[in-house]
Amino acid sequence: MLALCLSGAGRCGFRVAASEEALMTSDSAVVLGCEQKQPTRRSLIKLKTLLNQVHKIKGFVYTKIQMVGGSGNPRIIAEVRPRRGSRPVCSGCGKPGSGYDHMTEPRQFAFVPILNIPVSLSYTMRRVDCPKCGVKVERVPWADGKHSQCNVFRHFLATWAKRLSWKETAECFGVKWDTVRRSVQWVVAYGLKHRSLDGIEQRQRL
Ligand SMILES: [Zn+2]
Repeated sequence: MLALCLSGAGRCGFRVAASEEALMTSDSAVVLGCEQKQPTRRSLIKLKTLLNQVHKIKGFVYTKIQMVGGSGNPRIIAEVRPRRGSRPVCSGCGKPGSGYDHMTEPRQFAFVPILNIPVSLSYTMRRVDCPKCGVKVERVPWADGKHSQCNVFRHFLATWAKRLSWKETAECFGVKWDTVRRSVQWVVAYGLKHRSLDGIEQRQRL
């Protein structure tokens, strides 16, 4: 269990109350909390619950969530696996197909940091036996192609890059300058592709 204590938010901030031993337990029984001598109300949120609320992935489930790297370089890793019975989607044609096999090592996808701690989703990609495209690596809904950042993180970076310089954004969130640049370009390209011309057409008709 990896959990955040939100009691006292805004008063004492999000101080890490758990001991390092608690943070590093192998069964990921991690609690981040606020230290208060007489807490009026204590509200613990499991990180898995939080992820399911803000970043639920259709066809997949979060399994083990753990913190690694020690106090000097902590990282949170959320393991993801396919929901039982779900079929992989072909990255070639976008259609579900039969599972062929899976890769030997999990891929890491950078997610939005929590409490300034880097977070990544860890997932072992499946391969699809597609009748149209042959054997292909599956398409996952949280990241495009070979990108190592989750789409939600790229959108997060692009949003901050409106307020900060790309260099400052990169420094604040522990990524390369080029990652910020490509995130901004991706969001701009998405906006251009999906922009509505309804308003322009209406104005032209008036
Ligand atoms: Zn296909």
